[in-house]
Amino acid sequence: KETYDLSALRHDFPALDRAVYKHPLIYLDNTATSQTPSCVIDDIVKAYYNTKANVHRGVHLLSQEMTELQEAARRSVKEYINASSIQEIIFTRGTTEAINLVASSWGDMLHDGDEIILSVMEHHSNIVPWQLLQRRKRITIKVIPMDDSGVLDMDAYRRLFNEHTAFVSVTHVSNVLGSVNPVKEIIAEAHRHGVPVLVDGAQAVAHQRVDVIGLDCDFYAFSSHKMYGPTGVGVLYGKKELLEKMPPYQGGGEMIGNVTFEHTTFAELPFKFEAGTPDFVGISALRTAIDYINGIGMERIAAHEKELLEYTTARMMEIPGMRIFGTAPGKDAIISFLIGNAHHYDTGMLLDKLGIAVRTGHHCAEPLMHRLGIEGTVRASFALYNTKEECDAFITALRRVASMLL
Ligand code: PMP
Repeated sequence: KETYDLSALRHDFPALDRAVYKHPLIYLDNTATSQTPSCVIDDIVKAYYNTKANVHRGVHLLSQEMTELQEAARRSVKEYINASSIQEIIFTRGTTEAINLVASSWGDMLHDGDEIILSVMEHHSNIVPWQLLQRRKRITIKVIPMDDSGVLDMDAYRRLFNEHTAFVSVTHVSNVLGSVNPVKEIIAEAHRHGVPVLVDGAQAVAHQRVDVIGLDCDFYAFSSHKMYGPTGVGVLYGKKELLEKMPPYQGGGEMIGNVTFEHTTFAELPFKFEAGTPDFVGISALRTAIDYINGIGMERIAAHEKELLEYTTARMMEIPGMRIFGTAPGKDAIISFLIGNAHHYDTGMLLDKLGIAVRTGHHCAEPLMHRLGIEGTVRASFALYNTKEECDAFITALRRVASMLL
């Protein structure tokens, strides 16, 4: 029994109707990016036809309308993640830019000898910005280990703290293993030491209800394109009192108070961190994506994806040679696997020829691949529009691929 009318809902996503090598597309690469409903696409088109004008600048009507659309999106994001104030919602180009903003700006306030804590399952976008910071500050990166199922070792985490610990940055959900990390506990422990925490929410926001006040996180980063919204837009949530202390990230228009060649003052939050013309069309369409998700209901989406995960995992385990990476309890609908010793790329390529879109490789998490002792995996990941029939077709295709490669 479906938790909502899936077949009606699939018509909202035009891309799902296309064929791939004469097969109906089965899109299982949702972790990389989700498909987009026509209401979001229409909004983007409508803005380009009707209201495209630069925001916060003109006195003219179009500019006022576009500004209102962008700011309505900010209010919508604030509600979606339960932030306290719209001043805490900063629009970026994506999760990556949001994390870079914090690593650079908060990083400015770190001292030589400070230590930061990451986890072994971070995406490169939550590793490399901190390594870039190491060119400016002599900071040490410490890593929370995990067990073989993909559960973070919380005792080891607690032992990583000392008087030099200055920041913690961890992913909410692993984009490879699907593990849902105990971020609330991670944050509470860091706060006991007076240490702020950034949560990388790229893989969480479209699959569970996120409550930044409930979590008490200091920063939360995510991308629009993974939550049925447009590309090129992301969000950094930050607690107001922290954002106020932080120096600007980039300089330019929109983020200033007054500029002279001698001295510049900066705009109020959130504009202090939004230099230059933002992707106001994309931002306004993100609001439509949020409305779309809310219209279905996050609990129903999560229940549906969980059902697909359990069904598909059980059927995959029946295939001889199947190796699944990531079996943490309560994991999200992301399945990383290898068939025997077959190369991930070969498996992915054969699935593609059967119309099934999966991701192969290290998934921008090379340190995690080293931990697992592999070079890469094949990854199937699910969204609100995937069906049991697609899972069945995926299993049939996997059996065929296994018989070819093993
Ligand atoms: N963190 C995680 C956990 C991700 O899965 C991704 C995207 N694969 C990112 C960060 C980066 O997101 P973006 O490329 O949209 O900036």
